[in-house]
Amino acid sequence: MSTETPTVNGVPQERRLVTDLPGPRSAELMARKLAAVAGGVGTTMPVFAAKAAGGIIVDVDGNHLIDLGSGIAVTTVGSSATQVVERAKAQLDAFTHTCFMVTPYDAYVEVCEALAELTPGDHDKKSALFNSGAEAVENAVKIARVHTGRDAVVVFDHAYHGRTNLTMAMTAKQMPYKHGFGPFAGEVYRAPMSYPLRDGGLSGEEAAARAIDVIEKQVGGDQVACVVIEPIQGEGGFIVPADGFLPAIAEWCTKNGVVFVADEIQAGFCRTGSWFAVEHESVVPDLITTAKGIAGGLPLAAVTGRAEIMDSVHGGGLGGTYGGNPVAAAAALGAIAEMKEHDLNKRALQIESIIVARLLQLQEMHPAIADIRGRGAMIAIELTKPGTLEPDAALAGAIASRAREAGIVVLTCGTYGNVFRFLPPLSISDELLHEAFDVLATVMGDLA
Ligand SMILES: *Cc1c(COP(=O)(O)O)cnc(C)c1O
Repeated sequence: MSTETPTVNGVPQERRLVTDLPGPRSAELMARKLAAVAGGVGTTMPVFAAKAAGGIIVDVDGNHLIDLGSGIAVTTVGSSATQVVERAKAQLDAFTHTCFMVTPYDAYVEVCEALAELTPGDHDKKSALFNSGAEAVENAVKIARVHTGRDAVVVFDHAYHGRTNLTMAMTAKQMPYKHGFGPFAGEVYRAPMSYPLRDGGLSGEEAAARAIDVIEKQVGGDQVACVVIEPIQGEGGFIVPADGFLPAIAEWCTKNGVVFVADEIQAGFCRTGSWFAVEHESVVPDLITTAKGIAGGLPLAAVTGRAEIMDSVHGGGLGGTYGGNPVAAAAALGAIAEMKEHDLNKRALQIESIIVARLLQLQEMHPAIADIRGRGAMIAIELTKPGTLEPDAALAGAIASRAREAGIVVLTCGTYGNVFRFLPPLSISDELLHEAFDVLATVMGDLA
């Protein structure tokens, strides 16, 4: 190792392969996983993690992999960010759990205060904390239903909202998320999304009018409790709706007494270069769901919104044994402190400019790249048969597996499985990002 290689938490920030992937210790653990862990729990890379920091994941064989996935948009501040680790450790020493509903503790309240400060809009806000994104989405629906006295929930094509019964119903993609798991919760209706690559040139306003027409004709505006939308869709393919789409949907909601819920679970907390992705379009949601990036890797989720909506639920109606666990809440305060101290919104925009420049170069050589989209450190390419919109999932799969063999942790997504998503931790160095895209360029060149 050269003496110049920087380290983060003792982890040298360089890609280094000392075995084929997976190495022997990972292979051994993988065999145990297959024997002991339910087959439905998938594995993107059969490589077991030993340590992670900055932009590197070290596996149990000593391989150093470049992380372009952040554990699915979770470790935005890095996998072992100083203030997350310190605050969580201090909380572990103090106590692990009392249940906030039994004897409360201040970290929970402080997270709710931070959410009120950071989320868009200067109205009075309140929050409730949960364990997972799906749980937050479920609770947003519960709150909207009580507030409006209505049942219907409107979601969009390509949406992903989770894997519980209600959120499976809200999620669009059948395989693998819904296949065989029905019957699903009722009163969930799907409207067409703005999808600029596949929309035939609809403007945001036109796409919104199309969606609103479906809602009004097929559901009825006065039946709708809430519209739930990801401002940039995650699993569905990092689809960024055309400008004007989100504001038009939000405005329709306000006019019709419908609660507008922004599911910011993947896009929130600095990922897109702003605290929340709706800010790029100056939309102020009634409710926001957050999770993933909020707590530097510990399980925490929240619903934040207008105080009068949040408070429409009867006492005892919201909660859960672990919701807002003190260690997770302390970690969230550490993660938020890291985001502020290191100005991670600015860092996300720097990462965007590096990634997009590299992808534009790649696109010149590879007409299979039909679209480059996203914001901040949430960027994707969609691969099609050149000159058509026919998805090329096979190419995406081939590139992904070769890049992974070369030590790059990359994720695919999209309804058609043909989208590559780049979600590096914001703690990654420019050098590692460039190296990852050098590898990707080689892999794509080899396959062309
Ligand atoms: C991941 C995700 C969820 C579900 O979160 P879990 O913590 O996995 O339950 C919901 N909505 C969006 C947009 C997500 O990306």
